[in-house]
Amino acid sequence: MLYSNRITSNDRGESMSKIIDLRSDTVTQPSSEMRAVMSRAVVGDDVFGEDSTVNELQQMAAELCGHESALFLPTGTQSNLVGLMAHCQRGDEYICGQQAHTYKYEGGGAAVLGSIQPQPIEFEADGTISLERVERAIKADDFHFARTRLLTLENTTAGKVLPLDYLQQTRDFCDQKQLGLHLDGARVCNAAVKQQVPVSRITRYFDSVSICLSKGLGAPVGSVLCGSAELIVNARRWRKVVGGGMRQVGILAAAGIFALQNNIERLAEDHSNAARLAQGLAEIDELKVDPEVVQTNMLYVSMAPERFQELRSAMHEIGIVLDSRQPVRMVTHLDINTADVERVIAAFKRFFMAR
Ligand SMILES: *Cc1c(COP(=O)(O)O)cnc(C)c1O
Repeated sequence: MLYSNRITSNDRGESMSKIIDLRSDTVTQPSSEMRAVMSRAVVGDDVFGEDSTVNELQQMAAELCGHESALFLPTGTQSNLVGLMAHCQRGDEYICGQQAHTYKYEGGGAAVLGSIQPQPIEFEADGTISLERVERAIKADDFHFARTRLLTLENTTAGKVLPLDYLQQTRDFCDQKQLGLHLDGARVCNAAVKQQVPVSRITRYFDSVSICLSKGLGAPVGSVLCGSAELIVNARRWRKVVGGGMRQVGILAAAGIFALQNNIERLAEDHSNAARLAQGLAEIDELKVDPEVVQTNMLYVSMAPERFQELRSAMHEIGIVLDSRQPVRMVTHLDINTADVERVIAAFKRFFMAR
């Protein structure tokens, strides 16, 4: 099934209603304004460093994060990978969350391609990693052990925002233990908007930060890795090694620039839509969802397994697309407005009240 058409139509070709795809914020379609700036982008060979649009995006991203330098990459997975490779050598170790994207959802790339051993640790309920647990996991300088070099955090993680005082404590801890600190900030702009601080207020604690342009920010492709000039030189080398050196890629960087200029502040709408959706769904007895824990653009809903399959197909028929696993992650984004949220709540209520 394809969801690329945002408008469904019946067999007479009459437009019925819009598809509401709640599976992820990666499903957004580039807007016509975004497509227009893409088509006008000045481009050059970026492997030679000659694409002025890419250079402009990298400059903007570095400024956004308060870091010296930045690098444009095709995906967040590659951005995390080359970030880790820029910090760690073969036989080094990085500490991360047990459910962290870098560990669990990137095919083990750090180990497979970087020869970097992961040391996962269970996340706390608020998405932090206990520094006491990290301390216990740091290995002694002994040739039996991998060398512990780096700690990675994720912000937001499952939609949760890491507290600023925890970030300060983590920075101090890493300085004391001589560990590098990397942020998988795929959705760090959501965190900044939620905390009403500039992005740099969060990212300044980290030695490197990866940000996705293709999630809530609405670009079709792309991530940026920010860090010191030295780290980014190193990351650029690894990007080439893993096949991420792209040529006239300013066409995509232009979408990233548009996203950073236009789509950060509006993430607040996604957050209030997620909160409203959670609140509406919480009125349905058959559903388990806690509106109190919804902080950004994600909520998790569970129900009896036998009802779930029925619900999914019933919703599918009316153009509401749900993830296939429980608890169902629902993500609000650029292509879901307040009226859509009300439509989802009403459709869910109809479904559960019909029995
Ligand atoms: C999406 C995501 C990434 C990167 O994913 P890509 O699909 O490779 O761009 C990294 N970390 C987190 C937390 C993510 O949600």
